[in-house]
Amino acid sequence: MDRNASLGPCGILRVMPTKKTKQKRKMQPKKPRASQPVRVPKSAAVNKKSPAGIDPRRVAAILAKLDDAYPAATCELKHENAFQLLISTILSAQCTDVRVNQVAEILYKKYPTPEAFAHANPAELEQDIRPTGFFRNKTKSIMGASKAILENFGGQVPRTMEEMLTLPGAARKTANVVLGTAFGITSGIVVDTHVIRISNRLDLTRNEDPKKIEQDLMQVIPKEKWIVFSHQVIWHGRRVCQARKPKCVECNLEKICHSKDKTI
Ligand code: SF4
Repeated sequence: MDRNASLGPCGILRVMPTKKTKQKRKMQPKKPRASQPVRVPKSAAVNKKSPAGIDPRRVAAILAKLDDAYPAATCELKHENAFQLLISTILSAQCTDVRVNQVAEILYKKYPTPEAFAHANPAELEQDIRPTGFFRNKTKSIMGASKAILENFGGQVPRTMEEMLTLPGAARKTANVVLGTAFGITSGIVVDTHVIRISNRLDLTRNEDPKKIEQDLMQVIPKEKWIVFSHQVIWHGRRVCQARKPKCVECNLEKICHSKDKTI
């Protein structure tokens, strides 16, 4: 007979537990009680601040509808080269593209090169661009950017975001316009007043700060669409999804737009 076995009452063979069998019992995991709540790790919790509209299929539908509505969308600032586009983009702050184009037509005949702007008479240039508003600050930016292009970039508009941001008067929006439209370089997404408004209405972002909106959009829009997406949204904002009274009856995004600003 096994030395751990003995006869119990009524002659039933009883096996005494060895050390090993005791350890085995201890190692068996406890069965969870049915009533115990399941803990969701913090990382898996839903971020309530995330916009609901960034489901990839919904984003793809928005992009397809923008392609349908605006297949030929492009920058509406008239220009013959990257330098003119840079100057027009600086002039376009707080001003319509139509007004900028009117001023630019005369301006680029009078100042055809970066040298001409860099050595302009500031008081005279102020008057030349006066109709675009903020003409004193814009004159400083234009002359400063022209001088920087001459001194630091051999007279050529630079082709990287980092270099563009060294030019007076050029922030990310201006840099994205010039790099994307003049050079076809995908550096980011132009975020102007239309892109701020429509990205929020379409729930692609819940931010108001242009830098944060650009980061949000760059997360959900495929990189190859960044340039055209900016143009299309700006066109949509000018033609249909206007600030005060969006023309929702004419909008091909109406079915997938749940904005509280909708007019239908
Ligand atoms: S449905 Fe109206 S609010 Fe929504 S994107 Fe279209 S125009 Fe703008």
